[in-house]
Amino acid sequence: MKYFFLFFIFLNCTTVGFHDEKLRKSIDFGEIQKLKVCVMYEKTININEVKELELFWHNELNFYKINLEFSKIKQVDRIGFWGSEIINELNKYKLSNDCNRILYLVGREWSDIGFEFFSLGLMFGIGIKAEIQGAVEGDTNTRGYIKAKYISTLQLLFTSPKSTLVHEGYHLLGCGHALFKDECYIKINSIKKNNSKRDFFGIERVDDNYSFDNIEFLNKSLGSFRDF
Ligand SMILES: [Zn+2]
Repeated sequence: MKYFFLFFIFLNCTTVGFHDEKLRKSIDFGEIQKLKVCVMYEKTININEVKELELFWHNELNFYKINLEFSKIKQVDRIGFWGSEIINELNKYKLSNDCNRILYLVGREWSDIGFEFFSLGLMFGIGIKAEIQGAVEGDTNTRGYIKAKYISTLQLLFTSPKSTLVHEGYHLLGCGHALFKDECYIKINSIKKNNSKRDFFGIERVDDNYSFDNIEFLNKSLGSFRDF
């Protein structure tokens, strides 16, 4: 019984919903629109891995006639260890016509390995999944990070960098957790309709559907000041 419970919790906090193909195919997502994402990646990741992630996410967004492009890519030294530190750093970067979203790819250094074992121990010992694989900032849903390199054993049973990216990618489009993607399709469609004739891919916040489509306002509200 305990294991069933854990599995349920796990599913519950890790799914943005199953596709409902019939519904999705019945929706007209309109014209193709670009989603330009600026990406920072750590030195333990190579550029091919970045490109693979881009392609995988791009293929998912094709369903909605969204053309994903990693418009600016730069390699960086780690900007923070905890998720909150990373998000705080990402908030400093301004959004622009080239950077509709900001994505950070966390690599894997020697110091991470001990923490991975520690968190796996916690997960199996007391049922807490201490290591978060990715997150999206909650005020505007415009920035997020994922762990782009995993320990190639237990964690891969549950998830992979590609599926983490697609998951966080839905949050970056304003979709929350759900069993099916029905509401998500409607949200993406409504954002796209609002976007038409603009260069910027807007966002409707996950929790309350509050929508942002003004770059200056978005930058002001997060106190962003640095050009990407
Ligand atoms: Zn999530």
